[in-house]
Amino acid sequence: MSEKTTMPEKITMSLDGVLDVPAEPIIPFIEGDGTGVDIWPAAKLVLDAAAARHGHRVHWKEVLAGEKAFKETGEWLPPETVAAFDDHLIGLKGPLTTPIGGGFRSLNVALRQLLDLYVCLRPVRWFAGVPSPVRHPENVDMVIFRENTEDVYAGLEMQEGSEQALQLIDYLESSFGWSIRRDSGVGIKPVSETASKRLVRAALTYAVRRGRRSVTLVHKGNIQKFTEGAFRAWGYEVVRDEFADVAVAWDDCGGDPGDRILVKDAIADIALQQVLTRPKEFDVIATTNLNGDYISDALAAQVGGIGIAPGGNINYVTGHGIFEATHGTAPKYAGQDKVNPGSVLLSGVLMYEHIGWQDAADDIVRALEETIAEKIVTYDFARLMDGATEVACSQFAQAIADRL
Ligand code: NAP
Repeated sequence: MSEKTTMPEKITMSLDGVLDVPAEPIIPFIEGDGTGVDIWPAAKLVLDAAAARHGHRVHWKEVLAGEKAFKETGEWLPPETVAAFDDHLIGLKGPLTTPIGGGFRSLNVALRQLLDLYVCLRPVRWFAGVPSPVRHPENVDMVIFRENTEDVYAGLEMQEGSEQALQLIDYLESSFGWSIRRDSGVGIKPVSETASKRLVRAALTYAVRRGRRSVTLVHKGNIQKFTEGAFRAWGYEVVRDEFADVAVAWDDCGGDPGDRILVKDAIADIALQQVLTRPKEFDVIATTNLNGDYISDALAAQVGGIGIAPGGNINYVTGHGIFEATHGTAPKYAGQDKVNPGSVLLSGVLMYEHIGWQDAADDIVRALEETIAEKIVTYDFARLMDGATEVACSQFAQAIADRL
């Protein structure tokens, strides 16, 4: 990644697939509904201060989505917003209300699908001092690559009793002899070679660049052989066909990868136990959409991080990436300057890492660690810690900025 002029400029993707990041990039952001009004300015304060320490400056460009967009334009997700993310490649967003009857299952899912953001990236690690339900949260340092475009999230469902559901049930009976109760809702779970391979490719590339030790393919292939089982098989194909110099499958090395990255697999139910009982054995995790949903939240809970877990939705081929708070809008706290801005702030950190601003990202993580270690925290952590100083959302951000 290269840095050039000091004028506000768009981030672009070079022909060889590398992000070209100017020193002063224009980055679109969505403030977010509910507590977005609290957490966005707090996160921005810290992100701007850290960038400035290293000669960078973000020109934030507000784009509308959710309730604010609906009030101003009558649309929940205006086409200009999608166009802005498309054009500027990289963006940051707060949480959005899921409109009821608005024509969208979810605005987040719509954005992911419109820009084909095929990886949901969720790093999970513990920050010293954060209250956790497990004895050794310090052993958790995992990065989840969750497939983001298909599986049961493809939205291919038919309602029980509908004409289409009955047609499909009849067709499956007459063509395949599959007997399905007529009072069933029916859904389709597509898992393709294309989507599985690009996901595993992204996870392996990340593991190589970040010096990670292993990649675990998490699947439910013992039961769903041609979807989840195929994901596993395609994953190993990517290792053998494209990464043989830097990675090796467990079966090809008997579990001893030497200085290469070990690629192994685990059935989802066992994996959910083992990330809890033997977290040191997991590093990068690559998995299908629904498994990834469960495992991301289970792991975030393990490190006490539900309120501070970051996320990114990325297409590594086109260069698009939208980084987002993983919690919802928490409407009961909206406008109270109360909630933890950590999730959107750490999503900004993930974004900085992604665009090559590792120095600024590292500064924020260190300052956040110091702030929490000094027990200066928002209500969500304060209620679980002894001797904590509870501060407002904006004060927490200021405390982090003061420690940069
Ligand atoms: P939520 O907004 O995540 O809130 C659930 C609880 O999580 C809150 O009551 C609060 O717990 C805690 N929490 C959330 N944000 C926090 C923060 N910044 N700091 C500390 N604690 C925080 O979930 P929800 O109430 O189910 O959903 C509300 C709306 O958000 C819905 O419209 C939903 O569709 C939407 N949503 C959006 C996204 C997204 O945009 N990515 C994700 C999920 C949900 P306590 O009450 O214990 O303090």
